Amino acid sequence: MPKGHPESPDRLHYLDLLFNHAQFAGFDKSEAKYADLGLVELAHSQQHIQLVKSRRPVESIAEIDGDTFIAANSFEAVMSGMGGAMDAVESVMLGHHQNGFCAIRPPGHHAEHDRPMGFCLFNTIAITALWAREKYGLERVAIVDFDVHHGNGTQDIFYNDRNMFYGSTHEMPLFPGTGQKRETGAGNIYNAPLSQGTNGATMREAYNDRILPALDRFNPDLILLSAGFDADQRDPLASLNWEPRDFAWVTGKIMDIADKRCDNRIVSLLEGGYHLNALAEGVAAHINMLEHGEMGAPFDAAKELEGIWRERENA
Ligand SMILES: [Zn+2]
Repeated sequence: MPKGHPESPDRLHYLDLLFNHAQFAGFDKSEAKYADLGLVELAHSQQHIQLVKSRRPVESIAEIDGDTFIAANSFEAVMSGMGGAMDAVESVMLGHHQNGFCAIRPPGHHAEHDRPMGFCLFNTIAITALWAREKYGLERVAIVDFDVHHGNGTQDIFYNDRNMFYGSTHEMPLFPGTGQKRETGAGNIYNAPLSQGTNGATMREAYNDRILPALDRFNPDLILLSAGFDADQRDPLASLNWEPRDFAWVTGKIMDIADKRCDNRIVSLLEGGYHLNALAEGVAAHINMLEHGEMGAPFDAAKELEGIWRERENA
Protein backbone atom coordinates (compact mmCIF):
# COMPACT_ATOMS: atom_id res chain seq x y z
CA MET A 1 0.00 0.00 0.00
CA PRO A 2 1.22 3.52 -0.60
CA LYS A 3 2.43 5.40 2.47
CA GLY A 4 -0.45 6.68 4.57
CA HIS A 5 -3.03 4.24 3.17
CA PRO A 6 -5.31 3.12 6.02
CA GLU A 7 -5.26 -0.57 5.00
CA SER A 8 -1.65 -0.98 6.08
CA PRO A 9 0.42 -3.99 7.21
CA ASP A 10 0.60 -2.29 10.63
CA ARG A 11 -2.91 -3.59 11.25
CA LEU A 12 -1.73 -7.19 11.38
CA HIS A 13 1.53 -6.35 13.13
CA TYR A 14 -0.51 -4.67 15.86
CA LEU A 15 -2.78 -7.70 16.15
CA ASP A 16 0.34 -9.85 16.47
CA LEU A 17 1.25 -7.84 19.55
CA LEU A 18 -2.27 -8.42 20.87
CA PHE A 19 -2.14 -12.18 20.31
CA ASN A 20 1.24 -12.33 22.06
CA HIS A 21 -0.15 -10.56 25.12
CA ALA A 22 -0.36 -12.74 28.24
CA GLN A 23 -4.17 -12.53 28.20
CA PHE A 24 -4.24 -14.59 25.00
CA ALA A 25 -1.51 -17.07 25.89
CA GLY A 26 -3.99 -19.92 26.26
CA PHE A 27 -5.53 -19.49 22.79
CA ASP A 28 -4.66 -21.99 20.05
CA LYS A 29 -2.86 -20.11 17.30
CA SER A 30 -1.43 -21.18 14.00
CA GLU A 31 0.18 -19.62 10.96
CA ALA A 32 -1.93 -19.66 7.84
CA LYS A 33 -0.80 -21.99 5.07
CA TYR A 34 -1.08 -20.92 1.44
CA ALA A 35 -4.22 -21.95 -0.41
CA ASP A 36 -4.11 -22.51 -4.17
CA LEU A 37 -4.60 -19.17 -5.95
CA GLY A 38 -6.72 -21.04 -8.51
CA LEU A 39 -9.53 -21.24 -5.92
CA VAL A 40 -10.40 -17.59 -6.62
CA GLU A 41 -12.24 -18.97 -9.68
CA LEU A 42 -14.95 -20.20 -7.31
CA ALA A 43 -16.19 -16.62 -6.90
CA HIS A 44 -14.71 -14.53 -9.71
CA SER A 45 -14.90 -14.26 -13.48
CA GLN A 46 -11.88 -14.93 -15.68
CA GLN A 47 -11.99 -11.28 -16.70
CA HIS A 48 -11.63 -10.19 -13.05
CA ILE A 49 -8.79 -12.64 -12.43
CA GLN A 50 -6.95 -11.58 -15.60
CA LEU A 51 -7.36 -7.90 -14.71
CA VAL A 52 -5.84 -8.39 -11.26
CA LYS A 53 -3.00 -10.53 -12.66
CA SER A 54 -2.23 -8.02 -15.40
CA ARG A 55 -1.98 -5.13 -12.92
CA ARG A 56 0.39 -6.89 -10.55
CA PRO A 57 3.79 -5.17 -10.78
CA VAL A 58 7.13 -6.99 -10.77
CA GLU A 59 8.23 -4.82 -7.87
CA SER A 60 6.75 -2.10 -5.67
CA ILE A 61 3.01 -1.31 -6.01
CA ALA A 62 0.50 -0.47 -8.74
CA GLU A 63 -2.94 1.13 -8.66
CA ILE A 64 -6.13 -0.72 -9.60
CA ASP A 65 -8.46 2.14 -8.69
CA GLY A 66 -8.17 5.21 -6.48
CA ASP A 67 -8.49 3.10 -3.28
CA THR A 68 -7.21 -0.27 -4.35
CA PHE A 69 -3.58 -1.19 -4.90
CA ILE A 70 -1.66 -4.31 -5.72
CA ALA A 71 1.92 -5.12 -4.80
CA ALA A 72 4.42 -7.59 -6.21
CA ASN A 73 3.69 -9.98 -3.33
CA SER A 74 -0.07 -9.37 -3.00
CA PHE A 75 -0.86 -12.89 -4.22
CA GLU A 76 1.05 -14.34 -1.26
CA ALA A 77 -1.17 -12.26 1.02
CA VAL A 78 -4.31 -13.40 -0.81
CA MET A 79 -3.25 -17.06 -0.71
CA SER A 80 -2.42 -16.94 3.00
CA GLY A 81 -5.72 -15.19 3.73
CA MET A 82 -7.64 -17.92 1.94
CA GLY A 83 -5.39 -20.59 3.45
CA GLY A 84 -6.03 -19.30 6.96
CA ALA A 85 -9.77 -19.17 6.42
CA MET A 86 -9.85 -22.66 4.93
CA ASP A 87 -7.68 -24.10 7.73
CA ALA A 88 -10.08 -22.61 10.24
CA VAL A 89 -13.12 -24.02 8.43
CA GLU A 90 -11.49 -27.43 8.27
CA SER A 91 -10.69 -27.38 11.98
CA VAL A 92 -14.26 -26.38 12.81
CA MET A 93 -15.80 -28.92 10.41
CA LEU A 94 -13.65 -31.72 11.86
CA GLY A 95 -14.67 -30.69 15.36
CA HIS A 96 -11.16 -29.77 16.50
CA HIS A 97 -12.36 -26.30 17.44
CA GLN A 98 -15.81 -24.75 17.75
CA ASN A 99 -14.76 -21.52 16.10
CA GLY A 100 -11.81 -19.58 14.77
CA PHE A 101 -10.73 -16.03 13.98
CA CYS A 102 -8.48 -15.28 11.01
CA ALA A 103 -6.33 -12.14 11.19
CA ILE A 104 -5.83 -11.66 7.48
CA ARG A 105 -5.47 -8.90 4.91
CA PRO A 106 -6.24 -7.51 2.43
CA PRO A 107 -9.97 -7.50 3.20
CA GLY A 108 -12.28 -9.06 0.62
CA HIS A 109 -15.96 -8.19 1.01
CA HIS A 110 -16.01 -5.38 -1.58
CA ALA A 111 -14.65 -7.56 -4.41
CA GLU A 112 -17.56 -8.41 -6.70
CA HIS A 113 -17.82 -11.33 -9.12
CA ASP A 114 -16.40 -9.13 -11.85
CA ARG A 115 -14.58 -6.30 -10.14
CA PRO A 116 -11.87 -5.70 -7.52
CA MET A 117 -12.54 -2.54 -5.45
CA GLY A 118 -12.42 -0.93 -2.03
CA PHE A 119 -8.99 -2.29 -0.95
CA CYS A 120 -10.18 -5.78 -1.96
CA LEU A 121 -8.63 -7.88 -4.76
CA PHE A 122 -10.58 -11.12 -4.27
CA ASN A 123 -13.53 -11.92 -2.02
CA THR A 124 -11.91 -14.19 0.55
CA ILE A 125 -15.08 -14.91 2.52
CA ALA A 126 -17.17 -15.73 -0.57
CA ILE A 127 -14.43 -18.00 -1.93
CA THR A 128 -14.16 -19.72 1.48
CA ALA A 129 -17.93 -20.19 1.71
CA LEU A 130 -18.13 -21.75 -1.76
CA TRP A 131 -15.11 -23.93 -1.08
CA ALA A 132 -16.58 -25.11 2.25
CA ARG A 133 -19.92 -25.90 0.66
CA GLU A 134 -18.28 -28.08 -1.95
CA LYS A 135 -15.69 -29.72 0.25
CA TYR A 136 -18.01 -30.61 3.14
CA GLY A 137 -21.24 -31.02 1.21
CA LEU A 138 -22.95 -28.26 3.17
CA GLU A 139 -26.42 -27.20 2.13
CA ARG A 140 -26.53 -23.73 3.60
CA VAL A 141 -23.74 -21.33 4.54
CA ALA A 142 -24.45 -17.97 6.19
CA ILE A 143 -22.29 -14.87 6.17
CA VAL A 144 -22.90 -12.12 8.70
CA ASP A 145 -21.02 -8.88 8.05
CA PHE A 146 -20.64 -6.31 10.83
CA ASP A 147 -17.97 -4.26 9.07
CA VAL A 148 -19.08 -0.62 8.90
CA HIS A 149 -19.11 -0.79 5.10
CA HIS A 150 -21.63 -2.80 3.13
CA GLY A 151 -20.13 -5.97 1.63
CA ASN A 152 -21.35 -5.24 -1.88
CA GLY A 153 -19.04 -7.92 -3.28
CA THR A 154 -20.39 -10.71 -1.11
CA GLN A 155 -23.95 -9.62 -1.81
CA ASP A 156 -23.21 -9.53 -5.54
CA ILE A 157 -21.70 -13.02 -5.61
CA PHE A 158 -24.60 -14.59 -3.67
CA TYR A 159 -27.47 -12.43 -4.93
CA ASN A 160 -29.28 -15.26 -6.69
CA ASP A 161 -28.25 -18.14 -4.44
CA ARG A 162 -30.93 -18.96 -1.90
CA ASN A 163 -28.67 -21.47 -0.14
CA MET A 164 -26.27 -18.70 0.86
CA PHE A 165 -27.32 -16.12 3.43
CA TYR A 166 -25.86 -12.64 3.56
CA GLY A 167 -26.81 -10.35 6.46
CA SER A 168 -25.14 -6.99 7.00
CA THR A 169 -25.26 -3.93 9.23
CA HIS A 170 -23.42 -0.94 7.80
CA GLU A 171 -23.38 2.83 7.85
CA MET A 172 -25.41 4.50 5.13
CA PRO A 173 -24.75 6.71 3.27
CA LEU A 174 -21.14 5.57 3.01
CA PHE A 175 -18.87 3.74 0.57
CA PRO A 176 -19.73 1.65 -1.47
CA GLY A 177 -23.35 2.97 -1.55
CA THR A 178 -25.15 -0.38 -1.75
CA GLY A 179 -26.97 -2.19 1.06
CA GLN A 180 -30.50 -0.80 1.04
CA LYS A 181 -33.16 -2.83 2.82
CA ARG A 182 -34.91 -3.39 -0.51
CA GLU A 183 -31.89 -5.30 -1.88
CA THR A 184 -33.09 -8.75 -0.91
CA GLY A 185 -31.69 -11.05 -3.63
CA ALA A 186 -33.51 -14.37 -3.77
CA GLY A 187 -34.87 -13.72 -0.28
CA ASN A 188 -31.40 -14.54 1.10
CA ILE A 189 -30.03 -10.99 1.54
CA TYR A 190 -30.77 -9.02 4.72
CA ASN A 191 -29.43 -5.48 4.86
CA ALA A 192 -29.82 -3.26 7.90
CA PRO A 193 -28.40 0.17 7.05
CA LEU A 194 -27.53 2.38 10.04
CA SER A 195 -27.38 6.16 9.97
CA GLN A 196 -24.30 8.15 10.93
CA GLY A 197 -23.72 8.19 14.69
CA THR A 198 -25.64 4.97 15.42
CA ASN A 199 -24.62 3.64 18.81
CA GLY A 200 -24.58 0.16 20.26
CA ALA A 201 -28.17 0.24 21.50
CA THR A 202 -29.64 1.04 18.08
CA MET A 203 -27.31 -1.43 16.40
CA ARG A 204 -28.68 -4.14 18.73
CA GLU A 205 -32.21 -3.38 17.60
CA ALA A 206 -31.16 -3.89 13.97
CA TYR A 207 -29.74 -7.30 14.82
CA ASN A 208 -32.63 -8.30 17.07
CA ASP A 209 -35.32 -7.16 14.62
CA ARG A 210 -33.86 -8.08 11.27
CA ILE A 211 -30.61 -10.01 10.98
CA LEU A 212 -30.76 -12.54 13.83
CA PRO A 213 -34.30 -13.88 13.26
CA ALA A 214 -33.54 -14.29 9.55
CA LEU A 215 -30.26 -16.06 10.31
CA ASP A 216 -32.03 -18.40 12.70
CA ARG A 217 -34.76 -19.23 10.15
CA PHE A 218 -32.13 -19.86 7.47
CA ASN A 219 -30.83 -22.74 9.62
CA PRO A 220 -27.19 -22.58 8.48
CA ASP A 221 -24.73 -25.49 8.49
CA LEU A 222 -21.83 -23.08 8.99
CA ILE A 223 -21.61 -19.37 9.83
CA LEU A 224 -18.84 -17.16 8.50
CA LEU A 225 -18.29 -13.63 9.79
CA SER A 226 -17.03 -10.62 7.90
CA ALA A 227 -15.51 -9.14 11.03
CA GLY A 228 -14.65 -5.51 10.47
CA PHE A 229 -13.96 -3.27 13.43
CA ASP A 230 -14.42 0.07 11.65
CA ALA A 231 -17.84 0.68 13.25
CA ASP A 232 -15.87 1.66 16.37
CA GLN A 233 -16.38 5.33 17.20
CA ARG A 234 -12.63 6.02 16.83
CA ASP A 235 -12.34 4.71 13.28
CA PRO A 236 -11.10 7.34 10.78
CA LEU A 237 -13.08 6.03 7.78
CA ALA A 238 -16.60 5.98 9.21
CA SER A 239 -18.94 7.56 11.75
CA LEU A 240 -20.77 4.90 13.75
CA ASN A 241 -20.38 4.94 17.52
CA TRP A 242 -19.86 1.33 18.51
CA GLU A 243 -17.63 0.35 21.41
CA PRO A 244 -15.61 -2.86 21.82
CA ARG A 245 -18.37 -4.39 23.96
CA ASP A 246 -20.78 -4.00 21.04
CA PHE A 247 -18.62 -6.31 18.92
CA ALA A 248 -18.69 -8.81 21.79
CA TRP A 249 -22.48 -8.55 21.98
CA VAL A 250 -23.09 -9.28 18.31
CA THR A 251 -20.56 -12.13 18.45
CA GLY A 252 -22.40 -13.67 21.39
CA LYS A 253 -25.78 -13.41 19.68
CA ILE A 254 -24.46 -15.18 16.59
CA MET A 255 -22.89 -17.83 18.82
CA ASP A 256 -26.32 -18.52 20.32
CA ILE A 257 -27.69 -19.28 16.85
CA ALA A 258 -24.61 -21.33 15.94
CA ASP A 259 -25.16 -23.37 19.09
CA LYS A 260 -28.79 -23.99 18.16
CA ARG A 261 -28.33 -24.57 14.43
CA CYS A 262 -24.84 -25.77 13.48
CA ASP A 263 -22.84 -27.32 16.32
CA ASN A 264 -21.38 -23.91 17.19
CA ARG A 265 -19.47 -23.70 13.91
CA ILE A 266 -18.29 -20.13 13.31
CA VAL A 267 -15.28 -18.92 11.34
CA SER A 268 -14.56 -15.22 11.50
CA LEU A 269 -12.46 -13.34 8.94
CA LEU A 270 -10.99 -9.92 9.54
CA GLU A 271 -12.22 -7.26 7.13
CA GLY A 272 -11.76 -3.55 8.02
CA GLY A 273 -10.76 -1.61 11.14
CA TYR A 274 -8.31 1.25 10.70
CA HIS A 275 -7.68 2.73 14.15
CA LEU A 276 -5.06 0.48 15.69
CA ASN A 277 -6.20 0.63 19.32
CA ALA A 278 -9.86 0.34 18.33
CA LEU A 279 -9.00 -2.61 16.10
CA ALA A 280 -7.08 -4.40 18.86
CA GLU A 281 -9.79 -3.77 21.45
CA GLY A 282 -12.57 -4.87 19.12
CA VAL A 283 -10.69 -8.04 18.20
CA ALA A 284 -9.93 -8.72 21.88
CA ALA A 285 -13.63 -8.46 22.76
CA HIS A 286 -14.58 -10.61 19.76
CA ILE A 287 -12.12 -13.44 20.39
CA ASN A 288 -12.69 -13.45 24.14
CA MET A 289 -16.36 -13.96 23.41
CA LEU A 290 -15.62 -16.71 20.87
CA GLU A 291 -13.25 -18.47 23.26
CA HIS A 292 -14.91 -17.98 26.64
CA GLY A 293 -18.49 -17.02 25.85
CA GLU A 294 -17.94 -13.69 27.59
CA MET A 295 -16.06 -10.53 26.84
CA GLY A 296 -14.27 -10.35 30.19
CA ALA A 297 -12.59 -7.14 31.32
CA PRO A 298 -12.20 -4.63 28.48
CA PHE A 299 -8.72 -4.75 26.95
CA ASP A 300 -6.90 -1.40 27.15
CA ALA A 301 -4.77 -1.35 24.01
CA ALA A 302 -3.30 2.11 24.67
CA LYS A 303 -1.97 0.84 28.00
CA GLU A 304 -1.04 -2.71 27.04
CA LEU A 305 0.29 -2.39 23.49
CA GLU A 306 1.25 1.16 22.57
CA GLY A 307 4.48 1.25 24.56
CA ILE A 308 5.76 -1.97 23.00
CA TRP A 309 4.67 -0.73 19.57
CA ARG A 310 6.66 2.51 19.90
CA GLU A 311 9.72 0.70 21.20
CA ARG A 312 9.59 -1.54 18.14
CA GLU A 313 9.17 1.35 15.75
CA ASN A 314 12.17 3.10 17.27
CA ALA A 315 14.33 -0.03 17.24
ZN1 LIG B 1 -14.98 -1.53 6.29
